[in-house]
Amino acid sequence: MTSQILINDLRRHFESTSAVVQEAVERVLKSGWYVLGKENEEFEKEFAQFCGVQHCVGVANGTDAIELGLRALSVGKESRVATVANAGYYTTTALTLIGAIPVYVDVDPQTQLMDLTHLGRLVARGGVDAVVVTHLFGLLHDMESILRITQPAGIPVFEDCAQAHGALREKRPAGSFGAASSFSFYPTKNLGALGDGGAVVTQDTAVAARLRELRQYGWESKYRVSAENARNSRLDEIQAAILRAKLPFLDAWNRRRREIATLYSTAIKHPRISCPPVYGEEYVGHLYVVTCDDRQSLQQHLASAGIITDIHYPVPDHMQPTRKGSNDVRLPVTEELADKILTLPCYPELRDEEFGHIITTINRW
Ligand SMILES: *Cc1c(COP(=O)(O)O)cnc(C)c1O
Repeated sequence: MTSQILINDLRRHFESTSAVVQEAVERVLKSGWYVLGKENEEFEKEFAQFCGVQHCVGVANGTDAIELGLRALSVGKESRVATVANAGYYTTTALTLIGAIPVYVDVDPQTQLMDLTHLGRLVARGGVDAVVVTHLFGLLHDMESILRITQPAGIPVFEDCAQAHGALREKRPAGSFGAASSFSFYPTKNLGALGDGGAVVTQDTAVAARLRELRQYGWESKYRVSAENARNSRLDEIQAAILRAKLPFLDAWNRRRREIATLYSTAIKHPRISCPPVYGEEYVGHLYVVTCDDRQSLQQHLASAGIITDIHYPVPDHMQPTRKGSNDVRLPVTEELADKILTLPCYPELRDEEFGHIITTINRW
C-alpha cells in the first residue's frame, strides 16, 4: 500500500457531503443573518428531537457546553464535581474556569468509563455536589446504575456526549439521561461542523432558559443583563446549517463506525493486544482503542506500514503539568491505561481494503 491511512480523513468526509453542505452554506450566505438565527433555531429543534429531549441550546464549542451547562445546574465556586481523569482534560478545563473542584474517579479497566464502585464510595462518603459522566470513545455509560447511585443523594448528573452523538441504551439516546448534557461539533466528532460548535441539551425548561442567557452576555432580553458569569458563546448560522445538513446521515455513519469496530474486534488476534468487546447500539465507534503492553513498538510497526495511529489520551488530567502538586490523587487503572492505549483509524469513510490492511499488519506484529 503506497498511501498512508490517516487516523481521520476529513477531506473524504467533506466529499461525501459536499452537495448538501454547499447548499446549506449558500443559503446562509444569501440570508444576510450570520449569528443565532433561523438555522440555529431549527438545528436546536432537530437536535433536541434526535436526543429525545425538550431543549437544545447551541453554543460555540463543546468545552463551553460543559462549562455553561454546569453553571446552569448551579455548579459554582468550590463545588465538588466527580469526573474521570482519562477524557482529555476538557471537563477539568470547564471546572477550573468555574472555580469548581474536580474529584477524580478511577475508570473500569474494560470499558474505560467511570468506575461505579469508586463513584459509589465517594458519594457515600459525602461531599460530591455533581457528577460529570463522559461517554468516552462513543460508549454510552450505564446511566441507570449511575442515577441509582446519585438520585437518592440528590446529586445532579451531567453527561459529556462529545464522543457519543446518537449512542442508545434501550432506545434512549445519549444526552437524555442527565440533568443536562453537552455535545461538541468539532470537525472530527461523529457529527462535526466545519469549525467549532457545541450544544447543551436538557429536559428542564428553566435550565435551558438560563443557558440562553449564559451564552449571550447574560441578557434576559436585549441589553438587559441578569445572569452572572455569562459570555459570548454562540453557534454560527453557517455551522448550524451545516449540522442540519449532516444530521440525517449521522445514524448511518454511526452504523458504519460500529461495523468497522466489530470487524477489528473479531479479526484482530494477537496475544499482546486487547480489543474492546463487540458492542451494540450503545457504542457509536467514535474512537477504536486497543491496549497493548508495548504500545510504542506496535505504533512504530503500524507507522512503518503507513498506518497512522494516535493516543487518547496520553496524560491523565491529574498528572498534567497544571495540576502537579495540587493533589496526591492516585488512579491506578487510569494511569496504567494511559501507557497502554492506542487508537486505530475508525471513521465512516475508511475503506474495506484499508482496515483489512490494518488487521493484517497488526496480526503480523
Ligand atoms: C472534543 C471533546 C470535548 C470538547 O469539545 P470542543 O468542541 O473541542 O471544545 C469535550 N469532551 C470530550 C470528551 C471531547 O472529546
